Amino acid sequence: MKLSQILFSQGFGTRRVCFGMIDAGLVRHDGRVLDDPHEDLDTNGLVLTVEGKPWPFHAKALILLHKPAGFECSQKPKHHPSVMTLLPPPLRNRGVQPIGRLDEDTTGLLLLTEDGTLIHKLTSPKHHVPKVYEVGCKHPISDEQVERLLAGVVLDDDPQPVKAAACERVSELHLSLTLTEGKYHQVKRMVAAVSNRVETLHRSSFGHLVLPPDLPAGQWRWVDGWPK
Ligand code: URA
Repeated sequence: MKLSQILFSQGFGTRRVCFGMIDAGLVRHDGRVLDDPHEDLDTNGLVLTVEGKPWPFHAKALILLHKPAGFECSQKPKHHPSVMTLLPPPLRNRGVQPIGRLDEDTTGLLLLTEDGTLIHKLTSPKHHVPKVYEVGCKHPISDEQVERLLAGVVLDDDPQPVKAAACERVSELHLSLTLTEGKYHQVKRMVAAVSNRVETLHRSSFGHLVLPPDLPAGQWRWVDGWPK
């Protein structure tokens, strides 16, 4: 692919901006300044250095963000900044968006991509992608509450009961809850339905992806090779 096209595809700006970046000597590869916008490069495993920072080429971006509290997943947030502000401009420019949503006060693993097919696949209840939540509750958790979450509870907007795929009490006030759907405020509403209350909520995994313990809140990483 031509260099200018590569920069454009990665979200660095309009074609004019990309030509300008090349002209200004801001793009390097293997220590060499790339000054010809028409140079053909093999994108397979390509890592450019743009304005001094490595940029691995990805035909489609899949991003794992450690979402901190105090950020909304909406593109047009109402009360808090959007999680999009935690990503660099090229990722925002190329239309990356959250795969499902976490509430403003929920922390943990959030995936983002510009790949609509992947978004559909990972959010559709048909595909049963498991998501694990670490839940801090207000009141001590009883055996009966755990059993009811596993058996299924009815939420106010649907007569069909929803159940946890797995639910384990990990301490007096903490549950580990696995869901395979993503209804609005689902964890909070399920826990409320068994007469308890969510005080803290953290997503520790999504499908086979686990939040890396060394990834600080507010930081992100590329995910390579989600099985298609
Ligand atoms: N369930 C909730 O209630 N909130 C979240 O952020 C995610 C799942």
